[in-house]
Amino acid sequence: MRIALFGPPGAGKGTQASLLAERWGLRHISTGNLLREAIRSETPIGQKAAHYVRAGQLVPDELVRELAEEAIADAGYDDFVLDGYPRTVQQATWLTDFLRRHAGPLHAVLVFRIPDGVIVDRLSKRRIHKETGENFHLDHKPPPPDVDPDLIIQRRDDRPEAIQRRLEVYREETQPVEAYYRERGQLIEVDAVGDFTDVHQRIVDILKPIPLPTRQKT
Ligand code: AMP
Repeated sequence: MRIALFGPPGAGKGTQASLLAERWGLRHISTGNLLREAIRSETPIGQKAAHYVRAGQLVPDELVRELAEEAIADAGYDDFVLDGYPRTVQQATWLTDFLRRHAGPLHAVLVFRIPDGVIVDRLSKRRIHKETGENFHLDHKPPPPDVDPDLIIQRRDDRPEAIQRRLEVYREETQPVEAYYRERGQLIEVDAVGDFTDVHQRIVDILKPIPLPTRQKT
């Protein structure tokens, strides 16, 4: 099963990708996580990408392409859920070529629909556990009292000025990817407002009818 989750920052792609990965035994490939890991380990890609990520701008296509293609190859070219890739039409074109050479096209590209107001609330109140990567929300899912508060951090790009930048970048550079997949009949819309378990169920209902020979669990 080859799927991609697509939508603005804060739409819940990461959460839904891990739920799908868990449910159907897929590899969760998040280029944001791969970039943050590369930055932490100060790899050559990480060093080049760092200032773009911190400013909430897109990292140059060639750098992300390398990380994404390596991860897809590592997953055996199948049974993966892409989270945050592709984010430009250039990346989408490369991905189509890459998959054509190694596997087959994506089975579905899910676009998450969510109003800006909900996004700003989610991102500005999002906190992350530094070691486990678990996500919290200050109102809806606060970090448990027994967790060391020093380990709970806010992503630098979740600060208000970077959130606005990321929303602009999404509109200008990423939204055209929607048209790319719509023209190819691969785009499916998902209402991403509401509790994450409800959104997960909506996605499962959407994907279930698609015949997927490699899906492992139900
Ligand atoms: P995310 O965790 O998906 O919100 O990604 C965090 C940041 O990583 C983004 O704001 C970009 O700076 C960078 N990034 C992640 N995926 C991509 C991509 N496909 N293309 C360019 N930059 C990306």
